[in-house]
Amino acid sequence: MSGFQFTLLAQDGGARRGTLTTAHGTAQTPAFMAVGTAGTVKAMTADQVRTTGSQIVLGNTYHLMLRPGADRVAALGGLHRMMDWPGIILTDSGGYQVMSLAKLRKLDEIGVTFRSHIDGSSHHLTPESSTAIQHKLDATITMAFDECTPFPATYEEAAASMRLSMRWAARSRAAFVPREGYGQFGIVQGGIYPALRAESAAALTAIGFEGYAIGGLAVGEGQAAMFDTLETTTPHLPIDQPRYLMGVGTPDDLLGAIARGVDMFDCVIPTRAGRTGRAYTARGVFNLRNARFADDASPLDPGCACTLCTRHSAAYLHHLFRCEEMLGPMLLTGHNLTYYQALMRGARDAIEQGRFAAYAAAARDGWRQGDD
Ligand SMILES: [Zn+2]
Repeated sequence: MSGFQFTLLAQDGGARRGTLTTAHGTAQTPAFMAVGTAGTVKAMTADQVRTTGSQIVLGNTYHLMLRPGADRVAALGGLHRMMDWPGIILTDSGGYQVMSLAKLRKLDEIGVTFRSHIDGSSHHLTPESSTAIQHKLDATITMAFDECTPFPATYEEAAASMRLSMRWAARSRAAFVPREGYGQFGIVQGGIYPALRAESAAALTAIGFEGYAIGGLAVGEGQAAMFDTLETTTPHLPIDQPRYLMGVGTPDDLLGAIARGVDMFDCVIPTRAGRTGRAYTARGVFNLRNARFADDASPLDPGCACTLCTRHSAAYLHHLFRCEEMLGPMLLTGHNLTYYQALMRGARDAIEQGRFAAYAAAARDGWRQGDD
């Protein structure tokens, strides 16, 4: 089955510039995926998400299986049609959120039994059922079902958890129904232990997936350990397939991971921060609730092309957040996603032109004016 194709266009040091072609269009990499947890990128219409430059939206299997349910999404024409996003959709496997949100979890070789955090109803999630649910959702990219190894974990704990995830990866692959232009990614685990990461990468590439994710990072290990782990992991992954770092991160995390060979990212930071008044800009991070913005008639981020920055003052946004008007989170979510996408577009251009290190240094220099 073909039609799902990653093409590496350029390399600059460890940084990679590519295209990912799928049944639902083409994405340029490095790519940041907007998180659309429950079939919506919170506070944004699908048109607005497109305007930010986002090319891929992520959906959460755990949330969608509970509400409205995978069969109902399928009956409504799938997630693309339901949320008016004909573009690429990646769904997670549900494993991470079962462990972080659900109640009364019981994990064994077969899978995870849990109670919904919404109504206490009992559910079972296995590699087979997770893969079937993602099929019903019509995910362009299906993720293998895994256990996100907690941090900290001893070598023995990380090894046992990773090997369970590798057995689940083989079962996820067996349950995956190939379709033209659709793909499935395996997830490298192994904590912060290079030997376990190498073993996990070897196990997954032996099974064979359309792409490879790096999971179990940004769980408390810190940026230095995350970068170290990436450096020892990406050399074990195929050069001609996409690499996705799950749940990361800040703009600085993204540039550091791109330099270490990562192609795809997702994170709730820009959308969640947009709802709480935290702005990500070329000059750094700012809290728009701060009184210093009350009389600031200038745009939040003068170089930004979003609706907020081209049509409104920072003072207006400050006012909206002070009054808890819903337009505040809508405008700032749009801005934050636009900033993240502009950062990635700049990275792609820089990699093509062989100046990625200088681009990252200039971006970091610009962030110094922010609050943190
Ligand atoms: Zn803006």
